[in-house]
Amino acid sequence: MTTAAGTTGPLTPEILVPRLGEYLVEKGLITREQLDLALKQQERLRRTIGTRPIGHILVDMGFITQSVLDAATTEQLIQFRSALEEANAQLERRVHERTMELQTALQQLSSLNELKANLVANISHELRTPLTHLKGYLDLMLEGDFGPLNEEQLNVLGIIQRSAERLGNLIEDLIQFSVSERNQVYLHITPCDLREMVNSVYKRNISKARDHQVELDLQVPGQPVLVDADLEKISWVLMQLVDNAIKFTMPGGKVTLQAACEDSFVHFQVCDTGIGIPEDRLAQIFEPFYQLDGSSTRKAGGTGLGLALARRIVEAHGSVIHVYSEVGKGSQFEFLLKSHPS
Ligand code: ADP
Repeated sequence: MTTAAGTTGPLTPEILVPRLGEYLVEKGLITREQLDLALKQQERLRRTIGTRPIGHILVDMGFITQSVLDAATTEQLIQFRSALEEANAQLERRVHERTMELQTALQQLSSLNELKANLVANISHELRTPLTHLKGYLDLMLEGDFGPLNEEQLNVLGIIQRSAERLGNLIEDLIQFSVSERNQVYLHITPCDLREMVNSVYKRNISKARDHQVELDLQVPGQPVLVDADLEKISWVLMQLVDNAIKFTMPGGKVTLQAACEDSFVHFQVCDTGIGIPEDRLAQIFEPFYQLDGSSTRKAGGTGLGLALARRIVEAHGSVIHVYSEVGKGSQFEFLLKSHPS
């Protein structure tokens, strides 16, 4: 028979006890000379009939009785068992300590997150007020309320107005994001006219696409379709997706905004032939503030909040936003929404 220890012969408690001979010598139950003789005999037997446990040989040679051997092996096994129990208890203590440390770190992290969310919310609100004054006075100036303006002045004020508009949008993104971070996204779901919603997003992006020399294509169902959604928020999601698609597509490329009926769902898709996203970054782009090109020299503007917020809005509708992409070929963002039962 081959035992767990790899030896052949009957399975006896001594097989489980390593260095049994040494133990018996230490205990004064046999002498060192007797052990040496037994080991030599064991080696001889190994070459002829096979390996025999040292305890058996000691008994056979009359150096120890079977009952003394049994008592010694049992004693050693009990010692091993208590050592094992102590090691287990120590391990459990360490696991408990590490768990406590992790819990503390988690608590610190969540209070840091809360601090960050509050900071973002406060700063964005503080930025909004002076910007409102700035925009108000700009409008009045452009309307000539402070006297006539020449063409150059009008041009410059136009540029300032567009920049203020953009700054305003970024601040609104920040505010929306910090609200969604602290509370659940609040939805006002109504049956919305799908074609009207998608058409309006399309129209609001035509001039941007033209400026970037990107073709913008629209595909909507031929017949009217109602979809259960928060019109403003889903329009905002589509705006973000189309804005990104245009931003990350080279001149000469194409962006498609599509909504199609599939059974009791509407399938929204925004596809582009742009720079694409590496596979190992596909999950990260939905993290707040994450940008593939986070450098200060990056060409495309943005806060890195668009997709994080878009995901929250789509998820609040009980759906999921998916992305498929290939570097150098383009990207496709899509999600489903329930169509309104007719
Ligand atoms: P922002 O556009 O403000 O940087 P987003 O959250 O909308 O932030 O997007 C995060 C990042 O994901 C972008 O900075 C970009 O690196 C990547 N990304 C998003 N959409 C696309 C796309 N259509 N093509 C390539 N990269 C994209």
